[in-house]
Amino acid sequence: MRSTMQEFPLTIGAILRHGTDVHGDGQVITATADSLRSQTYADLGRRAARLANALRGLGVSGDQRVGTFQWNNAEHLEAYLAVPSMGAVLHTLNIRLFPEQLTYIANHAEDRVVIVDDSLVDLLAKQLPTFETVEHVLVAGPHAASADLDALRASGQQVHLYDELLDAADDTFAWPDLDERDAAAMCYTSGTTGNPKGVVYSHRSSYLHSMAVGLGIVGGLTWADRVLPIVPMFHANSWGLAYAAVMTGASLVMPDRWLQAEPLCRFMREARPTVSGAVPTVWNDVLSYLDQHEDVDLSEHLRLVLCGGSAVPVSLQKALAERHGITMVQAWGMTETSPVASVARPPVGVEGEAEWRYRGGQGRLLPGIEGRIVGDGGDVLARDGAAVGELEVRGAWVTGAYYKDDDPEKFRDGWLRTGDVGNLDELGYIRLTDRSKDVIKSGGEWISSVDLENALMAHPDVVEAAVVGIPDEKWQERPLASVVLREGATVQPAELREFLAQSVARWQLPDAWTFIEAVPRTSVGKFDKKVIRRWYADGELD
Ligand code: ADP
Repeated sequence: MRSTMQEFPLTIGAILRHGTDVHGDGQVITATADSLRSQTYADLGRRAARLANALRGLGVSGDQRVGTFQWNNAEHLEAYLAVPSMGAVLHTLNIRLFPEQLTYIANHAEDRVVIVDDSLVDLLAKQLPTFETVEHVLVAGPHAASADLDALRASGQQVHLYDELLDAADDTFAWPDLDERDAAAMCYTSGTTGNPKGVVYSHRSSYLHSMAVGLGIVGGLTWADRVLPIVPMFHANSWGLAYAAVMTGASLVMPDRWLQAEPLCRFMREARPTVSGAVPTVWNDVLSYLDQHEDVDLSEHLRLVLCGGSAVPVSLQKALAERHGITMVQAWGMTETSPVASVARPPVGVEGEAEWRYRGGQGRLLPGIEGRIVGDGGDVLARDGAAVGELEVRGAWVTGAYYKDDDPEKFRDGWLRTGDVGNLDELGYIRLTDRSKDVIKSGGEWISSVDLENALMAHPDVVEAAVVGIPDEKWQERPLASVVLREGATVQPAELREFLAQSVARWQLPDAWTFIEAVPRTSVGKFDKKVIRRWYADGELD
């Protein structure tokens, strides 16, 4: 028997219409060099319509791709809403990718148009001659009119001022009815090995993921919230925070390009976000800033910080909670999973150290997502919180393939192979020990680089630590710890080893140590262990 319910396509257009109509009083507030600029969601709706008209006027039709080369700000949000809602496909370009990778993804996605922030014009101009399918560039932002556009024009594409085009366009648009299964947006994984791979989100998957991010078990968003996505809109859709906010009427406070701890904290004091999201390295910097500035109290307004992208040390969570009254919740996901797939809220009644153990894991699977652990031989392992293997997931916002790129290795019987290694317990909690490529294989046993890093970062003199496997004749691999010390600290490896020995088996303790100034970062702000391995191979570490 079929249901009697109406067909109501779950589309970005539905989010746009609801957010800008029912929540016309919501606000998007963007940081500027010295203050804030803001517009209401009602304005946002009108500007999204103008952008859609402008893009149609430039010939954008069907499912053509519109690239964005922008920070988290109001204009980027306009593109987020207008491009998919008009039936085109939003392609967020990661401004921090290596030039060859950017060229690859813009050409692979066949972007027709690129919208660029005025502060990124020079960066894009260097790349533009290699973008083979781009015909138009729109320069957006408050300083677009005074930007030097000659370099952009040099490569032959037509260059327009975004605001000029919008001013000339109508502020209503006949948003088309779309199939919810069609492409809405695409995002490339940052490609730690090989070429980046394109994930194409559907309207439906984006809609459902936004609802999940709004749930009480994730962000618990209402229109009383002010959401600060620090995680870039070009990195896994800013974890869905932008769409989830517009959908729930929560206001958005956008940091633009001011992402260092000092301007970020200043911005937070002014814009008073209630919820935020960023990778651990950002919060580590914020923590150091807060420790040095006792007058800054973010707990007055910030009720929840979502953190993920890499393992979130318990020491960081505890420090923020105990010293600064800030609640951090770890989430796990990947570009391929839209990204949020699990959230580390402990089971009811679990308190004390047991609670921290849950908070230090990757969390409980969300509704709409299923997971399993698979052993080396391809057999599904017990869900007992002990058996370790590769995590595989499937679900309503998990990709089933890559765009124009066969990668059968990554999929098995309709499940996505995450490349993450760990276990799953009977209550659906994931605990990852490593990414498969970072696991240290020592004498036939596995050492978790993440466990060592977390334990090291709990030492009061350690700001950051990254552990990689280095070749060893006898054991195959042994851990090398690269440590960033707090200013003025003089702690020696022997003392750090003893400290580690309190929580880690002796045979796992690193024998090789090096002190570095900062852990190298990837384009999305995670520890870049490739670089450390290269430093080691090139003999650049002491
Ligand atoms: P990239 O592969 O470029 O890092 P993603 O941002 O999609 O691209 O990264 C997804 C990966 O990040 C996951 O497969 C996992 O290894 C890691 N990750 C994300 N969240 C967590 C977390 N909470 N704990 C541990 N690892 C995480």
